[in-house]
Amino acid sequence: MFSSLKGKIVFFVTLIMTITGMVIVFYTRRDVERVMHDNEKAAAHNVLRLIELNIAAGYNKLLVDKFEMMAGLTDRLKESSSTCISVLEEYQGMARSGVMSEKQAMEKCLGWLRSIRNQKWTPFVFDRQGVVLAHPDPRIEGMSVRILKDIKGRDILKIMNVDVLKHEGETAVFNWYDPHVNAVRKKLGHFAPFGKWNWTLCAMMDFEEIEAESQKRMQGILEVLKKTLEKIQIGKAGHAFLLDGNGNMLTPQVEGEGEEAGRTRRKVTWRLSMEDLASLGIKGGASKVGRVGVKDALGQDVEIHLGYFKAFDWYYGVGFFMDEIQQPARELVTRQSIIVSLIFVGSLILAYLLVTKMSKPLKMLAAHAKEIPSMDFTVQSHYPNPIEDLPRKFNDEVGRLAESFVFMESELKRNVAKLIETTRLKQEAAEQANRAKSEFLANMSHELRTPLNHIIGFTELILDQHFGPLNDNQREYLSDVHSSSRHLLSLINDILDLSKVEAGRIELESSNVNVELLLAQSIGIVKEKAVKHNISISTKLNHVRSVIRADERKLKQIVFNLLSNAIKFTPDGGEIILEAREVGGSEIPQGDAGNGNGTGIFRGAPEGKGGSENVQNGRWLQVSVSDNGIGISTEDQQRIFKPFEQVDSSASRRYSGTGLGLSLSRRLVELHGGMLWVRSEGVGKGSIFLFAIPIEDELAER
Ligand code: ADP
Repeated sequence: MFSSLKGKIVFFVTLIMTITGMVIVFYTRRDVERVMHDNEKAAAHNVLRLIELNIAAGYNKLLVDKFEMMAGLTDRLKESSSTCISVLEEYQGMARSGVMSEKQAMEKCLGWLRSIRNQKWTPFVFDRQGVVLAHPDPRIEGMSVRILKDIKGRDILKIMNVDVLKHEGETAVFNWYDPHVNAVRKKLGHFAPFGKWNWTLCAMMDFEEIEAESQKRMQGILEVLKKTLEKIQIGKAGHAFLLDGNGNMLTPQVEGEGEEAGRTRRKVTWRLSMEDLASLGIKGGASKVGRVGVKDALGQDVEIHLGYFKAFDWYYGVGFFMDEIQQPARELVTRQSIIVSLIFVGSLILAYLLVTKMSKPLKMLAAHAKEIPSMDFTVQSHYPNPIEDLPRKFNDEVGRLAESFVFMESELKRNVAKLIETTRLKQEAAEQANRAKSEFLANMSHELRTPLNHIIGFTELILDQHFGPLNDNQREYLSDVHSSSRHLLSLINDILDLSKVEAGRIELESSNVNVELLLAQSIGIVKEKAVKHNISISTKLNHVRSVIRADERKLKQIVFNLLSNAIKFTPDGGEIILEAREVGGSEIPQGDAGNGNGTGIFRGAPEGKGGSENVQNGRWLQVSVSDNGIGISTEDQQRIFKPFEQVDSSASRRYSGTGLGLSLSRRLVELHGGMLWVRSEGVGKGSIFLFAIPIEDELAER
């Protein structure tokens, strides 16, 4: 996928769109959830405010009611106490006018007060010291009010003493021991002074009844509140509730799940522990609100916002379910994901088509570039160049690239044409030089050989004593001159032959050659030397047809070279075997001659003969010269086929020679379309020189 430009672009588009899609979906979900949560929170706070106002309204009403009730009661007590004071004044007036003694008047008054049996209120009177002088309950009389305190903590004796009390009197709520119930109870009393006898009179009534009344009214307020709260709904199932200061639910919780009058009922029996409430830290201020997360009975996350109403020691709160917030966000995200996916697939298809269109010319260029190495720039193409139109069609980078290609190709063509021309000129010059060299060599051949032949001829005549007898010294010197001249002649012949072969000036002179005879004649030439060194030469002929088509003189020269080398590099008493055999192409070794493995080559194979197919199919004449002489090391087997190369080329070498024999022989074998190679196990292990030439069947039949 990544190996093509198209694959890469499609991959990157996919990657970018996937990342974009994921980022959009992630942020949308997060933001939508956050916004919905904020909305829900704002709604919860508004509801809390509403509830607080409702509670405050109830509270105010309760206060007003209580105040009015208190005011009424206080008025009644005031009235009662002033009635009592009037009675006391009446009796005191009678004592003053002498109707009765003051003591009698006092007794009458106290007796009257004791007799007042009113269900609503009770009178009692105490002196400056706080001692109760009269009370309907005789057990109270004689007791002291010294221990009484009002609900604000003030001593009743101190504030209600006849000396400090104002004429119109004062009202107070205080704790009073009630012997009937044997308990301390709250009482509301109006105290009035009766200065003439230093008495304080009090008309009191039970205050707890008032409280019970206000409690009843509060219950009423609570009922109204419950009804109000029941109507409040947050989200689908969120609702408002009330708790007392100890965390007990004051409003009933909805049980079970289902639809009811368009409202989703859910099991919302969450509990708030005292710790939860304490953690909010809202008890201090009336208008403070706090938030706490709890789980309901089904383990669902519920967020609760709470406020605290100090006067009642109530918590009021609203709770809503988190999944109600998350659900719409999820639905929105799903919807958005589908839209994003559709856009994504559409864009991918579009990108694919676009990239396919874009990469088409690039593909064409790539295909064309692949073809360039195999193009033949020397011939004029008849087909239109497929990339020539691209620069015109595409006015962008692709067009510029195609333009470069077209330019490169035309430059390449121009350079190849230039190269061919230069090569042709060089070849012509080389051929010219070669021709000149050949002519020079031909001339030299004639010019060198003629005087040398004269020297040899005349030396032979003198040695044969045509010009008179020779003494020993003269004979010896002349023999040296004769052998040196012959050596020089053979050297010149070799050099000239090699030069001619390399210049391609030697042509084969094909004739029918009798193989057995050719081998025998070759042995005949070297026989004298072999005999001299006591070296035996044996011949083996293996299924060789008697006559083949070849250049006899050159074939003989090859066999002679190999035989002379074998004799030269074999110690006295050695053995040489000259063998000829007919072999199939598959038996001929292939590869580079002298490559160290003793395998042969095909070099200069004439047309129609040198191909591997012909080598495999045809019949071959293979001639080998094996000796048990000094052998050749693996490394040397490579280089001895090069002109002037010898294993030992030092000045003090043992064996004479020019180093031309093998290279000339190989060229001559190659002229026949054959090959020449060597095998030797190494130094001291003898050598086998082999050559093979293809047999031309039709000619061989002749
Ligand atoms: P020359 O024999 O004149 O030196 P050649 O080209 O015929 O030149 O041989 C090259 C070298 O190959 C020789 O000098 C010799 O070192 C080695 N050589 C050729 N034939 C044999 C052989 N039969 N045994 C060992 N070495 C050989």
